[in-house]
Amino acid sequence: MSIRILSAETAAKIAAGEVIIRPASAVKELIENSLDAGAKKIEVYLKEGGKRLVKVVDDGEGIPSDEVELTIKRFATSKLASAGDLVRISSYGFRGEALASMAEVSELTVETQQEGTQSGIILRVKAGKVIEKKETVRSRGTTVSVSNLFFNLPARRSFLRGESYERRMILAVVRNYALLHPEIRFEVRTPKRKVAEYTSCRDWLERIKSVYPKLKSAELIPLNQKHRLLSIEGYIIRPDQSLEIKKLQRIFFNNRPVIYRAIYRAVIEGFGPQPDNVVPFFILKLNSPADMLDSNIHPAKTEVRYRDERFLFDFVSQAVRQAVHKEAVSNLTYTQLPSYTHLRPYPKSLTHPTQPRDDSAQLNMHGNRQSSPPTDPAIVSGSYKYTEDTGGETADTPLYHASFWQLQETYILAQVSSGLIIVDQHAAHERILFEEMLTRLWKTPRQRLLFPLIVELNPEEYAIFEEITDYLPELGLEAKPFGPDQIMIETLPADAKMGPAELSALFTDFVESSEVKLGNREKMAAFIACHGAIKAGQRLSQQEMESLINRLFRCETPYFCPHGRPTVIKFTMSDLDKRFGRF
Ligand code: ADP
Ligand code: MG
Repeated sequence: MSIRILSAETAAKIAAGEVIIRPASAVKELIENSLDAGAKKIEVYLKEGGKRLVKVVDDGEGIPSDEVELTIKRFATSKLASAGDLVRISSYGFRGEALASMAEVSELTVETQQEGTQSGIILRVKAGKVIEKKETVRSRGTTVSVSNLFFNLPARRSFLRGESYERRMILAVVRNYALLHPEIRFEVRTPKRKVAEYTSCRDWLERIKSVYPKLKSAELIPLNQKHRLLSIEGYIIRPDQSLEIKKLQRIFFNNRPVIYRAIYRAVIEGFGPQPDNVVPFFILKLNSPADMLDSNIHPAKTEVRYRDERFLFDFVSQAVRQAVHKEAVSNLTYTQLPSYTHLRPYPKSLTHPTQPRDDSAQLNMHGNRQSSPPTDPAIVSGSYKYTEDTGGETADTPLYHASFWQLQETYILAQVSSGLIIVDQHAAHERILFEEMLTRLWKTPRQRLLFPLIVELNPEEYAIFEEITDYLPELGLEAKPFGPDQIMIETLPADAKMGPAELSALFTDFVESSEVKLGNREKMAAFIACHGAIKAGQRLSQQEMESLINRLFRCETPYFCPHGRPTVIKFTMSDLDKRFGRF
């Protein structure tokens, strides 16, 4: 077949297809034009999910009468004068092809009038040809109607889906711009009813909540970080709550809704490991100087690229990590909770019988060497304040004064400001040990064993030991060869609960995990944490539970154990109210 140059008409139709894919793309382009024109109120009318009609009415600055016809010419734009302007573009439009594209594949009407003029213009176009142009009088603003999209491209038209699907896509578009512009009023109507309404709001959070009524501010973790080359602002939802509101992830970059994998990955990274079914919710606005961002890599501008992606990644993940950490500390520390300050020391006589632990010379949760549980809870709990007044309580005071409750020797239940948390004691301790090993290089707090432990290793395990022996001390585990196939453990990470059985299992793990690269501190620390953490089935005292929880929430990533399993599940009061039908 010989090569032919496409007719101008065909080429225009093909090009139109890149920008306008479905009614929702028309709505996106029209809303962006209205925003660029400084509209304060934008109304969208739909017929048959936009397939019959999409009409956007704004109160923006309008188009000069003598320029209306230009708007439907390809590359006609009032927003960009030269290619140099591309790097400092701040308007939504600049390619000047949206109206031209729509004009090509639909019946388009533009009706507009500028402020202070006697009259405006109505321009009717069909398949790119002007069929009518006349004067009109209306209030300031512009109305663009796109009827029978793709009427002249039957193949395209047949790709459109059902009315409700197309309408849903349009609503998603409107929602995005509503989230970006709280001060602007948006409305979507069909001939039958008003399908969405976002009244003008003072602040962003208010708009977010009107767009997602399910969100309550209490559940949102604010995030705010500024740098000369990049700033980020937004909200994240705690991973233990995000299951309800799946797929709520919005990224806006320089005021555009965008899809940006690197940012998504940075957020996930900032949260720390996620169990695979937990998808964090977030809504983030990033801003950078215009010349740091290329917005012109996709015809519909849904993808953008930041100039320094490494910096972008680190900046975002760091911001998320800090926000999550800060929230964990402020929301869950016990000093904040009024109910706790009323606690009385629980009766000593009741604490000791619940301590079946012999582990002579073991450390308590604080890493202090204690041969038996301390007699005064206040000494152990440090920051924790018990009231002075014991109110003449006797040893019979029931345990319901206790602040922590251990369920089946596996889970710890505790009240927090917003409800109830359930902590997996093993996973929580694992996380604590893991972070203590990793955050303090070479200074991992350790316990020197009074009686060193002798561990028997099989030849493979012994070989591994020889290979990693240099790396173990920095994780708090000092060991020496001790005769053939035996090693002597002299120190353990502080607070790790390990006997010969656990240590031997640890080396078995090292061998079996082909992933353990020599000196991969994180992996080794995760294994040690796993074997050294208290197990399910171990009874804990009040002090131990309290200490465990306090230390957990001092961790950088308190919500997950090193393997990504959750450490904490939370029930807010409103979760409970819902379950009990109080609403
Ligand atoms: P772009 O937005 O890339 O400039 P468009 O094809 O979307 O290209 O629009 C072409 C031009 O028409 C715009 O540059 C603007 O001058 C004008 N225009 C379009 N819609 C409106 C509107 N709602 N209000 C005012 N001017 C508009
Ligand atoms: Mg435009």
